Amino acid sequence: EMTVRQCIAKGLVGGEGFAVDASTIKADANRQRSVPSPDKLPIEAAHRAVREYFSVLDDAAFGSATPVQPKYISPVDPAARWNAASGGLAYYAYCTNYLIDLKSAVIMDVETTTAIRQAEVTAQRRMIERTQEIFGIWPERLAADTAYGSAENLAWLVHERGIEPHIPVFDKSARQDGTFERRDFTYDHVHDLYVCPGGQELKQQWRKINSDRPNTPPDNLLRYRSSKLACDVCTLKQKCCPNQPNRKVLRSVHEGARDMARDIALTDAYIVSRRERKKVEMLFAHLKRILKIDRLRLRGPNGARDEFHLAAAAQNLRKMAKLIPPGAPALST
Ligand code: SF4
Repeated sequence: EMTVRQCIAKGLVGGEGFAVDASTIKADANRQRSVPSPDKLPIEAAHRAVREYFSVLDDAAFGSATPVQPKYISPVDPAARWNAASGGLAYYAYCTNYLIDLKSAVIMDVETTTAIRQAEVTAQRRMIERTQEIFGIWPERLAADTAYGSAENLAWLVHERGIEPHIPVFDKSARQDGTFERRDFTYDHVHDLYVCPGGQELKQQWRKINSDRPNTPPDNLLRYRSSKLACDVCTLKQKCCPNQPNRKVLRSVHEGARDMARDIALTDAYIVSRRERKKVEMLFAHLKRILKIDRLRLRGPNGARDEFHLAAAAQNLRKMAKLIPPGAPALST
């Protein structure tokens, strides 16, 4: 916090645009010594790292980030996650998350999470909230990669925080079989329906239903269906829904935020943001190659947190040494 305050005082923080990203760092845990499940952990002689593991089981940045249990657990640092995603040998790791200001790549906040993608969004929210609380700084735009482009996260940024998402939309609607994709259907905001390439309407309800069904489905996806009668006689049926009686299109309840992100992605400002977000990756490269933090020395979530914070503070100090001209007044502490 002190290094960030100094950077703000010296004018190195613009506060207009932020970027966020995460990087995995190997934990101090031997991959050869693993247990298959938490039941096999030596609880009787529980050391600090094991106690910390149990204390973060309900934390959205650690234990409850995903219901999927890791394949192996390290008995010396069980909160470190078994990571086999890199294609090489699997290893135990933590994730360091950076929220940076895009003016001079000052690190505004750091969050430690388990090494899994779902935790990155939790970290992003915590860092944005904390930066606002501590420094009173609220960015106008946030640049990030597709990992942050889920409908829920875009909606949180747009509707709850008023931040422009310069983020590619996470979209799984692409089809491989050559049939029409969702983007071939036009959404009519006024009448809340889709119009298909054949000019027919797709609606959520074709007749009035008197039921107590909730308006929002549990998976947050609204379902729009075409009329079977129209599809039966449509010349485009083979290109649209060859194996179904009619066509169904799903729409997220957060589609408004997704549409906003898609519109931003067509602007020149987005091209600038996409280039600027590389600054976070450069900080991670510097962290691993120059500061040599490619493997942690301390164990447990608190050990990882301490090392990540110290490393980020060192990077901010280096930034000040580089950008503040010689002869400027000495920094007060
Ligand atoms: S098959 Fe049905 S939904 Fe598809 S284009 Fe034809 S009318 Fe529209």
